Amino acid sequence: MMKQTRPPTPEYLREHYKAWGHRYADRRSQDSNAAFYWPTIGGDKVNVLLTADLEHITQHHCAYCDRNDFGATIDHFRPKSRFPRLAFAWPNLFLCCNECQQAKATNFDNRLPEGTTFDKRLLKPDTQDYTFQRYFIVNFDTGIIDVNPAATDEEKERTEITIHVFELNKPRRKTARKLMIKLMFELMRRSEDLPLDDLPYRFLYD
Ligand SMILES: [Zn+2]
Repeated sequence: MMKQTRPPTPEYLREHYKAWGHRYADRRSQDSNAAFYWPTIGGDKVNVLLTADLEHITQHHCAYCDRNDFGATIDHFRPKSRFPRLAFAWPNLFLCCNECQQAKATNFDNRLPEGTTFDKRLLKPDTQDYTFQRYFIVNFDTGIIDVNPAATDEEKERTEITIHVFELNKPRRKTARKLMIKLMFELMRRSEDLPLDDLPYRFLYD
């Protein structure tokens, strides 16, 4: 999870996101199974416009696991089922791979301390004071992402929840990072420049 700097709300959202959110919330209040759909504006689907803008922020990497070889989806950080009014709110939208999206949906609300809510604990990569190094470490032998032992207790707890919710240490994901670490060392051994933005898991080189 690399730090993100989010530009101001795009114009096509700024004028409409509240009305669209209200409309979706109203529909859900009448029917909890009401389908979600992205509106069209000026002939363009909003999700197509959004995906392009979110890809620009992350250079086509998943906002959570940082892989860059996926079909992009848009994640609602605060799930639209619980926060329908935020369904079109710019700070709530992240570029996401299918794997992170599914893991987040599955693990929603698991392992949370009493009286807290999931979205307040999960690390958010566009928070001003967020850095990967503050919260995480990577084991270069195994590819495992772990909690930074130097973090505060609260930070450690949030990191653990984030690793759990996105299933960042699933076997296939560890292996993918381990391979990338080997490739990175090989490129460095050959004194080749690392094409940083083109490689997945940029936090390995950061
Ligand atoms: Zn991902």
